[in-house]
Amino acid sequence: MEKKANKRGHVLVIPYSTQGHINPMLQFSKRLSSKGLKATFATTVFISETMKPELLNSEIDFDTISDGCDKDGFFALGDIDDYLVRLQTVGSKTLTELIIKHKNSPHPIDCILYDAFLPWVLDVAQQFGIVGIAFFTQSCAVDYIYYYVHNGLLSLPISSSMMPIVIPGLPLLDLRDMPSFIYVVGSYPSHFKLVLNQFSNIDKADFILVNTFYKLEQEVVDSMSKVMSQPLLTIGPTIPSMYLDKRLENDKDYDLNLFKLDSTSTCWLTTKPPCSVVYVSFGSLVNLTSDQMKELARGLKQTGFYFLWVVRSSELPKVPHGFIEEMGDKALIVTWIPQTEVLANEAIGCFFTHCGWNSTIEALCLGVPIVAMPQWADQTTDAMLVEDVWKVGVRVNVREDGIVSGDEIERCIRQVMEGEQGIETKRNAMKWKELAVEAVCEGGSSDKNIDEMVSKILARCK
Ligand code: UDP
Repeated sequence: MEKKANKRGHVLVIPYSTQGHINPMLQFSKRLSSKGLKATFATTVFISETMKPELLNSEIDFDTISDGCDKDGFFALGDIDDYLVRLQTVGSKTLTELIIKHKNSPHPIDCILYDAFLPWVLDVAQQFGIVGIAFFTQSCAVDYIYYYVHNGLLSLPISSSMMPIVIPGLPLLDLRDMPSFIYVVGSYPSHFKLVLNQFSNIDKADFILVNTFYKLEQEVVDSMSKVMSQPLLTIGPTIPSMYLDKRLENDKDYDLNLFKLDSTSTCWLTTKPPCSVVYVSFGSLVNLTSDQMKELARGLKQTGFYFLWVVRSSELPKVPHGFIEEMGDKALIVTWIPQTEVLANEAIGCFFTHCGWNSTIEALCLGVPIVAMPQWADQTTDAMLVEDVWKVGVRVNVREDGIVSGDEIERCIRQVMEGEQGIETKRNAMKWKELAVEAVCEGGSSDKNIDEMVSKILARCK
């Protein structure tokens, strides 16, 4: 590991404070560090207090800004609108202080890599003449749909006469293929504003990075690149190299988990045959209804496959009474696991997922077929891409009462785990895995993009 003090070019990385934003941006910070830049990862004060000491001894530095919720974090406030106002006001002030603190140090900040959910960070960076790079944590397809809406190229609400929806670089879109904010009119207005605002000042950013790889989203990357005034660079997948490159499999990884990690799954998986386990997770934010949890439990049991099910502690009371005991060794239910490590385990046969972008790209890059049960936001579009474009899985059908039945869950899992379709899906998944590895290896499309960006940052260092 190169000594931190020898590094030139200091990048400050600022993620939005949820797990799905922290993970790719932390992994990318490690990547920048491996390219010789000094990387400092800034979390909120609240999150910094939950960090494990080994994180603080890693090759990247950590620092903090405040979101105005230092003691109890976002959840104490509850209201997203209040939170976003406070985050911007207190965040801008404490970010300014952090930049000034570093100004007279041996390593002044040369560049800020900010989560596109936080466009105000770019305004602060520009007041100091610092390079500003936007990092988009969702698929390029979804980013481009939001760009279309933000720029008035797609007017809402969408009427039946506007179907199918045509956006260059994307397949013809049905209403249910759109992000949920668009097809469920009026749902989650604050979150919708947040995703559209990513484009509010984007023309001023020096680069745009997207956590995807070129061959995965080639047409939409090309289309979106044409309308952006600065380079749009695909830099993903951001998952640790040791899961992509066999030669590095003994490397150690570290994460910043916002939930308490349960490591028992690795041991349990080693006792199971290859491709025999269904891995089930709905990420860090989705809450299912008790009725849906009951159907999910029923469907999983009916398949007869082993399953590893992540149920966050707040969701545990919804697991049907006695289910865990009844399943015995057939199932392991845990509250939070190291997901990439689990997906890389050869015992995993498919991933039953909500299709958050990180979960989707992690499965794709590790060659794991998907059963998609999207809930909201970008997940509906990701699920369409999984089934129709990349052909690495299937989407569940939702009943009129909004529930996905246990029988439907069983049917979809069998479809990707068994028979001719199962073999074909696995073959496709392995093809995407190979292309992902190619993109991040030396000289691959993502690797070259990162090199291009690093050399431009270095050229602008004082
Ligand atoms: N994750 C994890 N352990 C778990 C469940 C999820 O480490 O038990 C990670 C997963 O690898 C992914 C992130 O949490 O990187 C979830 O992000 P995603 O975009 O899939 O969904 P979100 O939580 O934002 O809805």
